Amino acid sequence: MPGIPGIALWYHEAMNPTHTSKQQIDREAIPSLYLHVPFCASICYYCDFARQIYRRETVDAWLKAIQTELESVQPSHSLETIYIGGGTPSSLSEDQLETLLCLLDSYRTETKEYTVELNPETVSEEKLNCLKRHGVNRLSIGIQSGDEALLARMNRKHTKADIHRLVVQINACGFSNISMDLIYGLPNETMKQVEADLNYVLDLKPTHLSLYSLSIEPGSVFGKQGVQPIDEDLEAEMYESIVRRLLQEGYEHYEVSNFARPGKQSIHNRNVWQYKDFIGIGYGAWGKEGNVRYDHAGSLQAYLKNPCYREKVLLSDLERQFETLMMGLRLSEGVFLKQYQEQFGCLPADTFPVSIAKGIRRGYLEEEKDMLRCTGQGMELLNSILVEFMEEAEV
Ligand code: SF4
Repeated sequence: MPGIPGIALWYHEAMNPTHTSKQQIDREAIPSLYLHVPFCASICYYCDFARQIYRRETVDAWLKAIQTELESVQPSHSLETIYIGGGTPSSLSEDQLETLLCLLDSYRTETKEYTVELNPETVSEEKLNCLKRHGVNRLSIGIQSGDEALLARMNRKHTKADIHRLVVQINACGFSNISMDLIYGLPNETMKQVEADLNYVLDLKPTHLSLYSLSIEPGSVFGKQGVQPIDEDLEAEMYESIVRRLLQEGYEHYEVSNFARPGKQSIHNRNVWQYKDFIGIGYGAWGKEGNVRYDHAGSLQAYLKNPCYREKVLLSDLERQFETLMMGLRLSEGVFLKQYQEQFGCLPADTFPVSIAKGIRRGYLEEEKDMLRCTGQGMELLNSILVEFMEEAEV
């Protein structure tokens, strides 16, 4: 997750990095930090994230660059949330993981939620103990499937035995807030396999589940192999069936693709969906500070040479209004209209009157008690709804 979960950047324009001066940014007020670890033990066939195969010397150089960037950025020492994603953070060796977590220690004194992503085949008891020592209190595990043939089809290197060993170790270490990722819509996958996968993951008793439908990205191995996406109707049927089952099991469907036990919604991801500012550290991460969104140099090598360089995009008022809706409508509670009005001096219906009226008329959007939100059907069609917003206001 390179910065914002579940959202692709819809437009990008590099701006002069001196555009916003340091004085304009109050980093003490920024509640969240995302750090991207761009290394993996192997490459999954569906992946086109910023990542490369783990090499010890490269990671050592990267750790120095991360230290330089953190010293220059100076995040708040009372961050509410820290999220280390990737890539595969657990692909780092034990000593490298220790070094990375030490770099973040001084920023976590008041952190409520500290998440690290793990892949089952790269975790050891020592690494879990190291996470525990440094205050990590939430783990996000890339399970993806419990079907070994599907795992192999995706070039995932873990087995069910690895998953079970990890779950035992996690429990022994005392971690209790566990998120798991599940992919559906794989080539030739059937409804029966989706149901079996879901049963498998539910038996592992995660407190949080993130659901991804397979998307075939041109830069991924699947894209290069010409793998075709599954039928759209079947994919929608799979999504609806998973949602139904998870609701029956007592999970809250709090975001388009995310489900949580009561009290276990991700604070970090909610901050991002509520369009709060967050600091992005490392090649592959992006962040948002005020009206500036940024990412880092275009390659790992360039990042290692100049870790403090950020490519910035200055967001107009209209773009920020659109992005507030793009993110906020993903959440089941939707967007707080009062907050929106305080921030922009108008309501969404002033800027997007036709699309909002149409969305309400068709039963995709609803306004209630100072909130604008998607209905269940609207959540499934959110991308098309947003395209109408964009076209109406020419964002
Ligand atoms: S999906 Fe995750 S683990 Fe697989 S190659 Fe991409 S970043 Fe690495």
